[in-house]
Amino acid sequence: MKQSNSDDFTKIIDAENEQFRTEIGTMNRKGERKWVYAKKPSGRLTNYRTLVAYALLLALVLLPFIKLPNGNPVFMLNVFSSRFILFGQPFFTTDFFLLAIGMIVGVVFVILFTTVYGRIFCGWICPQTIFMESVFRRIEFMIEGDRNKQIRLDKQEWDADKIGKKGLKWFIYALISFFFANIMLSYLIGMDDLIFNIKEGPGESPTMFFVLLIFTSLFFFVFTWFREQVCTLVCPYGRLQGVLIDKTTIQVSYDFKRGESTNGRSKYRKNEDRAAAGKGDCIDCGQCVAVCPTGIDIRHGSQLECVNCAVCVDACDEIMEKIDLPKGLIKYASEDNIINGTNFKFTARLAAFTAILAGLLVVMSVFLTNRSDIEVKFLQTPGRDYVEKKGLIENQMQYNLMNKTNKDLQVHIRVKSHKDSQVDILSDGGKIFVKKGELKQGYVNVKIPKKNLSSYKEKVMLELVDENNHVIDAFEISFMAPFSY
Ligand code: SF4
Ligand code: SF4
Repeated sequence: MKQSNSDDFTKIIDAENEQFRTEIGTMNRKGERKWVYAKKPSGRLTNYRTLVAYALLLALVLLPFIKLPNGNPVFMLNVFSSRFILFGQPFFTTDFFLLAIGMIVGVVFVILFTTVYGRIFCGWICPQTIFMESVFRRIEFMIEGDRNKQIRLDKQEWDADKIGKKGLKWFIYALISFFFANIMLSYLIGMDDLIFNIKEGPGESPTMFFVLLIFTSLFFFVFTWFREQVCTLVCPYGRLQGVLIDKTTIQVSYDFKRGESTNGRSKYRKNEDRAAAGKGDCIDCGQCVAVCPTGIDIRHGSQLECVNCAVCVDACDEIMEKIDLPKGLIKYASEDNIINGTNFKFTARLAAFTAILAGLLVVMSVFLTNRSDIEVKFLQTPGRDYVEKKGLIENQMQYNLMNKTNKDLQVHIRVKSHKDSQVDILSDGGKIFVKKGELKQGYVNVKIPKKNLSSYKEKVMLELVDENNHVIDAFEISFMAPFSY
């Protein structure tokens, strides 16, 4: 009988230890939420991560206020009026090919980056992690206390203490959500328009106010209740990890060889010679699990819920320090590193992948910076042939001119390739005036002396020049002329 009880117990433990393979850490088999009470993290990596998080938050808040010398903000994604500004450069629907190239480069970049560096982005740069761990959870720690106090508070009756603490937390969450919703909106409509809308009040721009309320509610919902489920249930990047990482990918890993040794992990006993007993360095203290914001046990190996935030690294290092064992039982390492007992090294493979990533960034930057501010196209006017007058051959051309700058422009067109030629603009009193961000269409007559032409389909270079005679863009046209010379 005794034997049978012990077998049952072992089975239960084994089943629990295998649960991570079939269940996610934040939900039971019935689909019910298991709330994660993460312990307050501390340590070297947590401090670095906090610094990075606050620097990025500061940049997020300040960037919409910054205007570049061309008068543009750094970023603006105005989906309401189809105005897009990236790194101060305006983009229009005509720049669709750049978007396509950008997306291809982006996908390749993400795949390569993840293959090499795993989910470092999730732990250090992802806005979800930064807002959750460096803003909202910190406020929770301040008001409700650390993990155990939070558990106690959630279990207790709704007395004055609980109502006060929860009420204060939610009120501050709502204020922060409203503030960041405004910041997000400024990336859509620009800070000038946002300030204008604030001064006008909700009555004057109800649509914007409605958008603001949606953003605020979304922020509040995600960081008050939904939390780590964004990473474990919604985020497609997390779901792709299984196919993107391999045995050489750098990620937060438990050194199972060291932690389990030959006889597995076991509780700490003072003055015990663990090595002689074949016991691993893991003392099963559970601190790495207690701090995990996604509620998982890193000792089960790589899991899709792990956002590589590295707080378990700090937690374990603190324990190792206390029991006088070397740090790094949990560390940034690849599976190969752990199996071979080697430390992270910047290998030739890493260097090659990093060089490719840098190359992709350069390619994208070149595409972005070489894009002309003015885009012009000339087409022969359909159904029209050349005209010969007083020794000049005349072609009527249709032009499409896109002004991608931030200012209105007055331009004229001249022939660069053939002497004594002229271009007559057939509208707007002989001048082309195009407003910022607008597409202008019209007609011009290009006249070239017959004696300067040598082919019935002559290549002619036209130039677009501004009021100060600076060449803005050039365009080659096929100029129709008589057959015989
Ligand atoms: S396992 Fe460690 S690195 Fe992964 S999410 Fe949990 S605490 Fe962060
Ligand atoms: S914190 Fe370190 S020692 Fe404690 S359970 Fe986790 S891996 Fe083991």
